[in-house]
Amino acid sequence: VSSYLATIQAKKHLNAFLEVYQDEALAKAEEIDKKIQTGKAGKLAGMVIGLKDVICYENHSLQASSRILEGFKSQFSATVVEKLLAEDAIIIGRQNCDEFAMGSSNENSAFGAVLNEIDNTRVCGGSSGGSAVAVQANMCLASLGSDTGGSVRQPASFCGIIGLKPTYSRVSRHGLIAYASSFDIIGTLSKSIEDTALLLEVIAGEDNFDSTVSKRTVPTYSQMLDLDYKPKIAYLKETIENEGLEPDVKNNILQTIEKLRSLGHEVEAVQFPLLEYILPTYYILTTAEASTNLSRYDGVRYGYRSPNGTDLVSMYKRSRSEGFGEEVKRRILLGTFVLSASYYDAYFTKAQKVRRLIANKTKEILSQYDFIISPTAPTTAFKIGENTNDPLAMYLADIFSVQANVAGGLPAISIPNGFDQKGLPIGLQIMANSFEEAKLLAFSKYWL
Ligand code: GLN
Repeated sequence: VSSYLATIQAKKHLNAFLEVYQDEALAKAEEIDKKIQTGKAGKLAGMVIGLKDVICYENHSLQASSRILEGFKSQFSATVVEKLLAEDAIIIGRQNCDEFAMGSSNENSAFGAVLNEIDNTRVCGGSSGGSAVAVQANMCLASLGSDTGGSVRQPASFCGIIGLKPTYSRVSRHGLIAYASSFDIIGTLSKSIEDTALLLEVIAGEDNFDSTVSKRTVPTYSQMLDLDYKPKIAYLKETIENEGLEPDVKNNILQTIEKLRSLGHEVEAVQFPLLEYILPTYYILTTAEASTNLSRYDGVRYGYRSPNGTDLVSMYKRSRSEGFGEEVKRRILLGTFVLSASYYDAYFTKAQKVRRLIANKTKEILSQYDFIISPTAPTTAFKIGENTNDPLAMYLADIFSVQANVAGGLPAISIPNGFDQKGLPIGLQIMANSFEEAKLLAFSKYWL
């Protein structure tokens, strides 16, 4: 803990942590040292973990990196946090992210951008950017982030670490600030598959507080890391042909495909003409869900209240106008529009139908192949400010990652897979069928 605290202090300029629980973490470490001596320590004893600022931790501030939650303290801990603590993990602090997990570069935070340690002029990805950089820069061993459309995997890819998005109903969302409830899931960021497996094994499983969590028993992932068969792998033809794909990233995936073939795997191209509809579907449905979820921030129940209101309605309006950042407002407006009576069928209903088509087609592929592979993102880490004035360009950063969330919450992982010519990390995304995290982890370990 002392070593991580010193690193956090030394690398403050990266802006990864919003708050560090120094005294608490040190006290907890002492407590766990004693438990270790008596042989009573939990599975995660000594694991020092950071939490993205969207996960509740009792009596600790929580803000979703937004002004609107200024002064808010969690009254309970998320189920994942309870589970971590029950296994003697040490929580070291709260990590910067895009406001309400909306973004792909961590530039949408009320607390400013998080810098990529490899090149401080570049973004670290988002929205779990602080969580990724904290692991990248050795400020903690692992982090918990959230992934609605790639927010764990894309920053993992930009930072050269491992990010796992589990199956939608594998991990409880109780105590996770909602962005788009039918897409959101808590995931892990770390530097090793073993840690990823162990963490998943601890945080997964049924929960009385979240009825969407599956009652399936949780496998001991950490004991299932040997690959004892030759997986059959697909890649989408449209992914490789995508015009936004940077040449180095394209070469990287083509070389990966060749290498897998030379190792004796069957790797085949499949057609997925729906690829171009995934992002529009994602942004219609997630903004709709977000506009509903974020209606609870009214200046009364949580956090910030504008001092400038003159009556109830103006207090609501001013609190929300002053409290939310630009991107969040953009999405609330978009979501409200697609849900409005006259456009509901044209946008929302249609997007739900397209979501079903995408899910069916993706699952059809995964019934014939063990995995679908792709680059995690079409580019490596871009320059800070490069995409901030063009939301559509920013949305394209998620083109390959959103499929797992749109297609009914499939598990997907991003693992480091070499570098581009500038020395920036490239991520390989591997996606599997629901509840096949064990396969995903074993294959990742084999490839790494
Ligand atoms: N970048 C995507 C978005 O802005 C994904 C965010 C996420 O997964 N939370 O919506």
